[in-house]
Amino acid sequence: MLRDTDLQRKLDTLMSLAADDRDGVPPRLRHARDAGALGPLNIRSLRPGSGPGTRLLRILMTNACSYNCHYCPMRRDRELPRILLKPAELVRIFLGARRRGWVDGLFVTTGIPSNPVKVMDGLIEALELLRERYRFGGYIHVKLVAGAETAQIERLTALASRISLNLEAPCGQHLAQIAPEKSLPVALADLERVRSLVIRERTARAHGKPADPLRPGGAAGMTMQFVVGATPDTDRTLIDSVARLQAGGAIHHAHFSAFRPITDTPMESVPAAPALREHRLYQAEHLLRAYGFAAEEVVYEPSGNLPLATDPKIAWALAHPERFPVEVTSAGRAELLRVPGIGPVAAGRIVAERAGATPRGLTDLRRLGVVTAWAGGFLTLRGRRLQTTRWAEQLGFWAPEEEAGSYHLAYEVSPGTFR
Ligand code: SF4
Repeated sequence: MLRDTDLQRKLDTLMSLAADDRDGVPPRLRHARDAGALGPLNIRSLRPGSGPGTRLLRILMTNACSYNCHYCPMRRDRELPRILLKPAELVRIFLGARRRGWVDGLFVTTGIPSNPVKVMDGLIEALELLRERYRFGGYIHVKLVAGAETAQIERLTALASRISLNLEAPCGQHLAQIAPEKSLPVALADLERVRSLVIRERTARAHGKPADPLRPGGAAGMTMQFVVGATPDTDRTLIDSVARLQAGGAIHHAHFSAFRPITDTPMESVPAAPALREHRLYQAEHLLRAYGFAAEEVVYEPSGNLPLATDPKIAWALAHPERFPVEVTSAGRAELLRVPGIGPVAAGRIVAERAGATPRGLTDLRRLGVVTAWAGGFLTLRGRRLQTTRWAEQLGFWAPEEEAGSYHLAYEVSPGTFR
């Protein structure tokens, strides 16, 4: 864990790397510290799926933007010191951090100071420098700016490990109300272009085409991001959209960012979306991706949102008493995966272990990775119930729906800014 002082020292060192030896820090970067959390550098340890423990340096190529999205701290009309990293500066910073052993991979995102085509030119230049001149073969995650040219999309997809797209909302009309310059059909068309390129590359690799030596990890799939609670879209609409998009293949996962009101924006007085809502959406999306759930099986409140008080898998299990209890000694992997507290690893271990000796009780199940406080009430072992109670809601001082509180907080930055 980095202490604040360590982090600040590293950020200062990295910013100094952007300086040219002869001329020092360019005037464009002199106010980088004044931009606070919206400055260009942000060291985060993330696991993007390219290998355990990959540490990413997150770089905001610029916090300048010509768009005026109502929810965004970087919107055109908001007072903010604006900083722009040139592609060569971005590359110097990243390689300096990597040389020091601080990071292994790169995450690049950006505002749109001019137009998407110009911004994409800068991103492509940075990635070409890294891959071709400096022979960096590791993980690079880059934000594709919707509205780019087809040739740019092809080039960026060939250079990056993972491409992400900010869709923001599942409904085009709702998106237009909060992001007047954005278009959902344009973003979706770009997503389909990237998808077809990723699928084509994966198919070629499956047929024996050798890996590109400049990008040995190949295409790691796409991600897409939604702002939750900035539009009236329900969780059902969000999850159904994600399921439709995932069905076409090449999507790694979806990102959800709970809306936070930002000072000096048109949405400053709109209430924040509960962080727990974002968490429940991630859990529901995980059910589709890793547990074999269909979108229609997810359980919602009458409002169309996920119940905040209950994990979505437990909500499904409680709504389907006819599917329980599940017998540990004979249930198949898919059946075990439906039990709250049993994940893919634990389900696999139970099936494998049963070939030798059957688990004898809760202790054995815990050893195999089962969360028995959740699973016990949904299981039998040789016909005997392992636990009589199924699931009790966690006790809290107030209902999760009230998490955003009765008073209103407005923020300077939103967690979704760097996704
Ligand atoms: S969300 Fe993106 S495009 Fe919109 S104002 Fe913010 S940085 Fe610009």
